[in-house]
Amino acid sequence: MAKLLRLNMTDRTVALQDLPEAYRLLGGRGLTSAVVHDEVDPQCHALGPSNKLVIAPGMVTGTSAPTSSRLSVGGKSPLTGGIKEANAGTGFAPALASLGIRAIVVEGYPQSAGWWMAHITWNAASGKPDVTWLPADEYAGRDLYEVFPQLFDRFGKVSVAGVGVAGELRYSNSGVVFEDQEGRPARYAGRGGLGAVMGSKGLKFIVIDRKGAPGVPLANKEVFELGRKKLTDALMSHAITKPKGALNSYGTAVLINILNEAGGLPTRNFSSGRYENAAQIAGEAVFEGNKERLGKELYNHACSPGCIIRCSNTWHKPDGTEHVSCQEYESIWAFGANCGIGSLDDTGELIRLCNAYGVDTIEMGCTMAVAMEGGLLQFGDAKRAIELMHEVGKGTPLGRMLGNGTATAARLLGVRRVPVVKGQAMPAYEPRAVKGIGITYAIATMGADHTSGYTIAPEILGVSGKVDQFDRDKAALARNFQYATGFIDSTGHCLFIAFAILDIASGFEGVVEECNGVLGTSWTMADVGRIGKDVLDRELAFNRAAGIGKAQDRMPEFMRLEKLPPHNVTWDVPDSTLDAVFE
Ligand code: SF4
Repeated sequence: MAKLLRLNMTDRTVALQDLPEAYRLLGGRGLTSAVVHDEVDPQCHALGPSNKLVIAPGMVTGTSAPTSSRLSVGGKSPLTGGIKEANAGTGFAPALASLGIRAIVVEGYPQSAGWWMAHITWNAASGKPDVTWLPADEYAGRDLYEVFPQLFDRFGKVSVAGVGVAGELRYSNSGVVFEDQEGRPARYAGRGGLGAVMGSKGLKFIVIDRKGAPGVPLANKEVFELGRKKLTDALMSHAITKPKGALNSYGTAVLINILNEAGGLPTRNFSSGRYENAAQIAGEAVFEGNKERLGKELYNHACSPGCIIRCSNTWHKPDGTEHVSCQEYESIWAFGANCGIGSLDDTGELIRLCNAYGVDTIEMGCTMAVAMEGGLLQFGDAKRAIELMHEVGKGTPLGRMLGNGTATAARLLGVRRVPVVKGQAMPAYEPRAVKGIGITYAIATMGADHTSGYTIAPEILGVSGKVDQFDRDKAALARNFQYATGFIDSTGHCLFIAFAILDIASGFEGVVEECNGVLGTSWTMADVGRIGKDVLDRELAFNRAAGIGKAQDRMPEFMRLEKLPPHNVTWDVPDSTLDAVFE
């Protein structure tokens, strides 16, 4: 029977609990949000003893379902004060699933200083996972690029979850880090400060050795295989997701030129929708730059086991040695267009430092842009931005200001153009120019978050039909995307499967059949909305009890007052539209 593994940091006790019947059909975000809803006091301090950190692989994670090695990390967010789910693709996800653990719940509060690590192995004799506690002080205060190889030297082929300096210092912008397939500390459940929750509990790392683990049982192999094949066929044939297609060739940064053309690429702290140097930092420039430096074409790789889309890239230095993985759209944009920095070498270094210290690139890039607007440095000054990143890593007073997020930095610097919703910085789509994603930012349970409902697919890319980017009447579109996303985030599939399954209905059917094959359910496509709605209903209930109501489902004032070039548009979606999304 599937288990919940509880790690209590008050006294470092471990409990392996049978999965409650109420959670039997949940996975990923559905499960993290259910546990947080059921067990965390919404009024608690996010860094106090009543908060919990929940890590859950998706429903089909650990099986041969394509592109499904994702997990969700949940808790009360130190950044937004509301519920949080952050998602990552990593070998840690199938490793956890293969042990029969549907979620790890980190709870309690340490009674003394010091860092700990939980080492989880499979005990063949008992048929259960074992947990050993080990001191981890020797890894604290250090660059994760130094520490990860030492963990692999010590423990062999393992999977790792952990925090960097940012989580240790309890920054509101700190992520939970996981290894990529090459063992880099490069895959983050980055958004919302959940690294600080892990850090507040004195837990530095969780290390999983899956050797001998039984794997994920299938309730109906035939149904599962049918679904797996349908989804695989869809992913392998769609122009965006197929081998040597858009994502495999240019990565997510293929969007830089597209959004720039649409006038929706936030530039210099959301003061324009178009960046004059966009082509220099676009996915095409990553591809051509690598080709020039390596002397051959380099297609992208999988961030996690079993991904057949393979959108994750590696950027190389002029001498052909590796610089960083991964320069993806949001991260390049955050330090590139949004900071007026037009060099991939500079964005690459800034992204590498985020990985080294353990912060989210979107929040950090927006913070840096606010610092530029506040006069701490000039727009385009990459050298100073890199120096400031080291302040973040050292935990100096200036670094702590920057490490605690965009809203905090803006307050301390007296900046009024603050692109946040519910305290979380906006991603790489200008809401004034693309109204549907703006509605998503405003009403998402997570704060400003494009992955809560990626309406960019129809608004900009024409996936599942094209809608006008400036049309304001998109409450239903935003709602439907959020419910569908609540479901996909629960399956363990990467959200990028959406490009294919929105256009190819059999692919979407395949996802539902995979779930049926694992869980023994007989869901149809008609159940997707209901399952996603259940996830959102729990998250909304938590937020309401935490004091986050409809008054917080709003865009920052400057977006209503300032016209955004080049289309000279303001945020003009009526509040009544926002309030109608979840009525
Ligand atoms: S599509 Fe990209 S982000 Fe998603 S799992 Fe595959 S490599 Fe990772």
